[in-house]
Amino acid sequence: MTSPFDLTGKRAFVTGANTGIGQGIAVSLARAGASVACVGRSSMAETEAAIASAGGTSCEHLVDLADRDAAVAAFEAAAKKHGPFDILVNNAGIIRRADATNFSEADWDDVIDVNLKTAFFLAQAFGRSAIADGRHGSIVNIASMLSFQGGIRVASYTASKHGIAGITRLLACEWAGRNVNVNAIAPGYIVTNNTAALRDDEDRSAAILARIPAGRWGEASDIGGAAVFLASEAARYVHGAVLPVDGGWLAR
Ligand code: NDP
Repeated sequence: MTSPFDLTGKRAFVTGANTGIGQGIAVSLARAGASVACVGRSSMAETEAAIASAGGTSCEHLVDLADRDAAVAAFEAAAKKHGPFDILVNNAGIIRRADATNFSEADWDDVIDVNLKTAFFLAQAFGRSAIADGRHGSIVNIASMLSFQGGIRVASYTASKHGIAGITRLLACEWAGRNVNVNAIAPGYIVTNNTAALRDDEDRSAAILARIPAGRWGEASDIGGAAVFLASEAARYVHGAVLPVDGGWLAR
């Protein structure tokens, strides 16, 4: 009997797959049987090696995701080369820190462009293709605890992550009846380069750990497991969910 989590024969397009959460997701999808297009601006060699050693298949597509037109062109070129995608994971993301009183337009635009604008237009390209062909599709957007909370000194990041939750729900409403599942994962504190400085700050790191009911930081593979679920047949009736994978942080 086939597992409802089996992704054999599925093609996935994962942004920001060279490191961190994106790498964890790419490897998890490949382990579940999907072939994975690893997409971003840096070499995907490490992720491709991890996928190959797990017996999976992948390919690399290099593009700066700050450029919405280039990102959509890369998606369409990859689909033409390898065949249409069944799964889109909008994972790539950046953060800029400054007080709201001093927040610059550049720090606003840079974050919104990568985290929200390109993510929406990749979803649009994916949805158009799946709906036109009558194919099933799964979109998994990477949100944040700051899709639910305010945060401090991260105005554009908070706006982008509230925006990601919003467009996840909007696209789910528009496309649930068109055989496209649109959902999001809201990671808690995950061990990646992005959080290295936070983990190096002993006082802040201890305060964070004390507030996580699970008693540990998350790993990229924890997010990968949720992505496999949301991309799979098991989640076929799940639409518009923004799933916290945070060791219980938001439940507290
Ligand atoms: P990392 O900084 O480790 O990875 C971010 C990824 O996005 C990298 O692959 C990076 O590529 C890519 N990226 C950023 N900008 C661009 C760009 N212009 N073009 C192409 N690729 C780009 O972060 P995480 O793995 O921690 O974060 C991944 C996602 O998870 C983000 O959306 C983040 O907001 C979200 N998240 C993370 C949490 C955490 O605790 N770590 C918590 C909540 C949400 P490159 O290496 O080339 O810069």
